Amino acid sequence: MIVADKVNKIYPNLCHALKDVSATVKRGEVVVIIGPSGSGKSTFLRTLNQLEVITSGQIQIDGMNMYAKSTNINELRANVGMVFQSFNLFPHKTVKGNVMLAPQKVRGRTKAEIEPEAEKLLKRVGLADKMNVYPSQLSGGQQQRVAIARALAMRPDVMLFDEPTSALDPEMVGEVLDVMKDLAAEGMTMVVVTHEMGFAREVADRVLFMEEGELLVSDSPENIFDSP
Ligand code: ADP
Ligand code: ADP
Repeated sequence: MIVADKVNKIYPNLCHALKDVSATVKRGEVVVIIGPSGSGKSTFLRTLNQLEVITSGQIQIDGMNMYAKSTNINELRANVGMVFQSFNLFPHKTVKGNVMLAPQKVRGRTKAEIEPEAEKLLKRVGLADKMNVYPSQLSGGQQQRVAIARALAMRPDVMLFDEPTSALDPEMVGEVLDVMKDLAAEGMTMVVVTHEMGFAREVADRVLFMEEGELLVSDSPENIFDSP
């Protein structure tokens, strides 16, 4: 479903953030990326929906070459949901309004079509009673769950998570991880950058370890965490 082949990213300041990174993510697979700060995890994730343009190499998503002229990058991006460390909700829209916005604007779907779906998604992330409030009235954990519902509203084939719990108070981390665990159990293809090793061990099909821009290890969580 995702094939990255010898991906290099050199930022304009000449920081070589990705060095020949090759990786594949199969449909339904949950891949967790770990590694020290500054090792290129976030850069790699952002190349997967072209928030960062790569310097060399190739990325294919669902058989579409990201850099082919024939590829519609907006369409490709719409199939790749992304959740960031900061929730970036629209402050002047209600929770439900936030979830409904992109499918209306980008997919051109009507309010009547999308509203029941948005309500269903918000129930699924445990926010049935918060649909009509504004983001500022929610806790960080609740806001992040809205951000997940908002990404899912585009009906993506794959979800990318960039340290989704790093900005949360500890007591809210669990509620966000639980939603991610449910998604994984439902078969969503996921790539997750996180420092939550419990999540990696419990949920990941495969763990990638990055260091200084290189992908050093790709292995099962058992082999990564339990080998001496
Ligand atoms: P991680 O997610 O593992 O912490 P990043 O992908 O954020 O790593 O960063 C990898 C390297 O690229 C770091 O050295 C970082 O300083 C650098 N970097 C990240 N973003 C930029 C940018 N926009 N411009 C220049 N250098 C960047
Ligand atoms: P993360 O690891 O979550 O990406 P960082 O603190 O490394 O967080 O980066 C935060 C933001 O700053 C990102 O948008 C990244 O692209 C940018 N950034 C990081 N390092 C640099 C750098 N050396 N020069 C310019 N921008 C950078």
